[in-house]
Amino acid sequence: MEERNTDRINVAEIFGENVFDDRTMQERLPKKIYQKLKETIREGREMDLETADVVAHEMKEWAIEKGATHYTHWFQPLTGVTAEKHDSFISAPQPSGKVLMSFSGKELIKGEPDASSFPSGGLRATFEARGYTTWDCTSPAFVREDASGATLCIPTAFCSYTGEALDQKTPLLRSMEAINQQSLRLLRLFGNTTSRKVTPSVGAEQEYFLIDRENFLARKDLVYTGRTLIGAMPPKGQEMDDHYFGAIRERVAAFMRDVNNELWKLGVTSKTEHNEVAPAQHELAPIYEEANVEVDHNQIIMETLKKVAYRHGLQCLLHEKPFAGVNGSGKHNNWSLVTDDGINLLDPGKTPHDNIQFLLVLCCILKAVDRHAELLRESAADVGNDHRLGANEAPPAIVSIYLGEQLQDVLNQLISTGSATHSIAGSRMDTGVKTLPDFMKDATDRNRTSPFAFTGNKFEFRMVGSEDSIGEPNIVLNTIVAEAFCEVCDELEKAEDFDLAVHDVIKKLAMDHQRIVFNGDGYSDEWVEEAKRRGLTNITNMLDAIPALTSASTIEMYEKFGVFTETELRSRAEIEYEIYAKKLNIEAKTMRDIIRKQVIPAVIGYTTTLATSITAVKAAGVGADVSTQSQMLKEVSQRLSETKDALEALEKVTDEANTHEDQVQRALYFRDHVVPAMANLRTPVDELEMLVDKSAWPMPSYGDMIFEV
Ligand code: ADP
Ligand code: MG
Repeated sequence: MEERNTDRINVAEIFGENVFDDRTMQERLPKKIYQKLKETIREGREMDLETADVVAHEMKEWAIEKGATHYTHWFQPLTGVTAEKHDSFISAPQPSGKVLMSFSGKELIKGEPDASSFPSGGLRATFEARGYTTWDCTSPAFVREDASGATLCIPTAFCSYTGEALDQKTPLLRSMEAINQQSLRLLRLFGNTTSRKVTPSVGAEQEYFLIDRENFLARKDLVYTGRTLIGAMPPKGQEMDDHYFGAIRERVAAFMRDVNNELWKLGVTSKTEHNEVAPAQHELAPIYEEANVEVDHNQIIMETLKKVAYRHGLQCLLHEKPFAGVNGSGKHNNWSLVTDDGINLLDPGKTPHDNIQFLLVLCCILKAVDRHAELLRESAADVGNDHRLGANEAPPAIVSIYLGEQLQDVLNQLISTGSATHSIAGSRMDTGVKTLPDFMKDATDRNRTSPFAFTGNKFEFRMVGSEDSIGEPNIVLNTIVAEAFCEVCDELEKAEDFDLAVHDVIKKLAMDHQRIVFNGDGYSDEWVEEAKRRGLTNITNMLDAIPALTSASTIEMYEKFGVFTETELRSRAEIEYEIYAKKLNIEAKTMRDIIRKQVIPAVIGYTTTLATSITAVKAAGVGADVSTQSQMLKEVSQRLSETKDALEALEKVTDEANTHEDQVQRALYFRDHVVPAMANLRTPVDELEMLVDKSAWPMPSYGDMIFEV
């Protein structure tokens, strides 16, 4: 039993203590330098070397006080995880033999990792291995503590020698600039002259599984691929719904306490935590912040969950579907647009029907999502997410928008009469119990099945996979909405009568894009049919989503707003095909391995036990009945032979897949031949797990893993 940690945590004291944040900079930097840095951050100006030198020096001194010996440019290449290369602060020894700790402005601003091993999708020829990381001063540096000591981490962007983006951050920053400019145009139309900047605010709710580390290590499929490739369902699954919001167990509570502590020190506002639907599944949500910082923080959250789990003898699984038949994990990307003076463009107010600016923003979002639904779907596509989206699980693969009763009603008024005159109000909640206070209900209930839902004053994009970066979905959201804003501004800036024109625009947008709105049950078969009638796409797997990255409308939009060049988009598509084939190759090889080397020998061992028992009983010569043993032996042998056939079939198609030189063909072959072969192999193996003596089965079962944390 672990000892209970009763030390009090003083949140106010530790919050952000390991972050080189505004407070610290103000304290430590000379006033002039601080001002210059703030200008750079605020206005996106280039930084001069002199300023950088002073900032670097102070950053180093601060980091060393925190115990740091090394620094790293911390970046997000297209592998989906963060990358870093550590350098120590030590410079060449003095003649006296003493070493100095140094860190220059140049080292702060620019790093040069050997980039040849990061995916570039043909953007870098192999002889040209240069890649540059450049400091993103809009996301604060931090000191991370782990087993290797403390390291100063500097959030950076990652580009090729010729300036193409090789990461998530660069295009994200570009898309934030696009939405900023277009939102300001829109605000000016409504007479706002005071707001100076509009930033997308993002809060990402993170789901994950927690299992015992010993069980994890005993499952090579989890170790190599992050998910179980075989495994029979336990007698009790999630059908009781007794885990959801259930009391958090002690061991998990101790883990969460540590996670919060670590995150708070790093300035991450971990706010809510609760159990999720599936056993052993949990969720963590921070308080929303600027998109760029939130993307970094979500990476820090994922890293911290893994690191702290390890310390507690646990393993954190971030895969979208670690256990077949059990709820998968996703990420809810909450998104809104907020001005520097605190106005949320997505706040409908109490009476949305007469909030013309809000209605225009809303209708622009309908247009953006309707027009670029496939690109939005693509932004959530990854290998693991194929087991969720379109695979009979939340949310469906069809992109649609949930507005709720109140906004739907306003939209209906707009469409039928051209203007909206009233809004449905929330009513009083009466529990019928005197001692419970009455309160006002929201005007709109929730819908849990929608992939893109309006929730009060933000949209919640729920397709994103648990393991994926939220970078891409936010790049897409920012840019598609910037495009829609841009188009209405082009029209309205020319209008002679603004009030008249804006009404017409809103009505037209509402009419043209109402097909994307759906308030019903997104899990139902009727919706699949209905969506087809409406002409909405239903993309059920990652490979079918990739072409949206390079469609004519995507390229045109991204080039117009300077977010991606066509070359960058083509390289990204190429990388995705490559990643798909690589991950499936690993899955197939792992499955072959564990079945050939672990499952089959174990089953043979068990059949030997059965056969020996039959012979022994018979030899006893008392005429005892051996029909049960014989029957079992027959059944097990039958499945064993099916397993062997299916294994050979999988080996054949995997080898065949790897003969394809062309990445697209290779990926498609994996999807169409290897994935089904893996499913065929799984069936007899899972049946065997139910037949074979538990003590003979060579790895922990689903029950062992998800009920015994
Ligand atoms: P819900 O119950 O709708 O899921 P929560 O209050 O739990 O809402 O918030 C979910 C996430 O959304 C949190 O990370 C929260 O910080 C974030 N969030 C709340 N308001 C906004 C907003 N205006 N813009 C972006 N994210 C937001
Ligand atoms: Mg939510």
